[in-house]
Amino acid sequence: MTAPMFQKVAVIGAGTMGNGIVQVFASNGSKVSMVDLDQAALDRGLSSIEKNLGRVVKKGGMSEQDAQDALGRITATTDMQALGDEGLVVEAVSERADLKAKIFRALDEQLASEAILATNTSSISITEIAANTKRPDKVIGMHFMNPVPVMKLVEVIRGQETSDETTAAVVACSEAIGKVPVEANDYPGFVSNRVLMPMINEAVFCLMEGVATKEGIDTVMKLGMAHPMGPLTLADLIGLDVCLDILEVLHKGLGDDKYRPCPLLRRMVAAGRLGRKTGKGFYDYE
Ligand code: NAD
Repeated sequence: MTAPMFQKVAVIGAGTMGNGIVQVFASNGSKVSMVDLDQAALDRGLSSIEKNLGRVVKKGGMSEQDAQDALGRITATTDMQALGDEGLVVEAVSERADLKAKIFRALDEQLASEAILATNTSSISITEIAANTKRPDKVIGMHFMNPVPVMKLVEVIRGQETSDETTAAVVACSEAIGKVPVEANDYPGFVSNRVLMPMINEAVFCLMEGVATKEGIDTVMKLGMAHPMGPLTLADLIGLDVCLDILEVLHKGLGDDKYRPCPLLRRMVAAGRLGRKTGKGFYDYE
């Protein structure tokens, strides 16, 4: 293994995305601090990484020793104060602007002035997040896709003040961990969710208006458009609350009613039918 671009990395948030990001950096030679305020989330994160690495070993993707070494490079902690000399931090906490603002203010105080502070946000403005720091030139979007160890794309989003040096470093780092970076500018939803969410929303409108059944809508997009999964199945995988949050950001940020969330999507979220994570969404997973 060649030396990693960043010897030490921190990932804030050990949830769905955070633990996947930790796994990818640790597998590529970086020492990684995985930080979450919830010890149970850290435990779940570590066990998920262990299981995933076990699967990679079984499939012949890495040796047992390399998997053990990767696990050995991970430190799980609830104490963000323990950070300090990491060259790169990737924030992957819940999609709330106030929470991200608080974390970036704290990271800016604590981390060395040359450290890059990246966020995995799906939709919140990188420029707004960066404005909470004294280093907006070193703040950038590093938007991984779910599941992180499998999906190749990293959307690299430049805020208003993000420097060329920071962008070049994050592009090179993404390549070094086996991903394909694509640069985007800081507009609501960037590229991925600006294109994906209106399609999912329109599929929900089709269902609400009775254009076809849920299975029918998903099959049209799978067999007709060669999508690997239908839009309603994908919405269940992402989480219907996450889809609604992103549509609200698109609607507010771009000011165009074509992004208005479908009333049926709102109703599903209000009922707690959030998709796979709650066992029920458009489909039943129980
Ligand atoms: P998640 O709810 O699975 O995990 C979030 C974690 O953040 C939780 O473990 C929570 O305990 C932790 N957390 C909350 N406040 C914290 C704090 N102050 N300090 C430390 N940890 C804290 O969420 P997720 O799905 O992993 O999403 C994380 C980010 O990634 C969001 O910004 C989301 O928009 C983005 N994202 C999600 C997906 C997806 O498919 N789920 C895809 C791409 C990007």
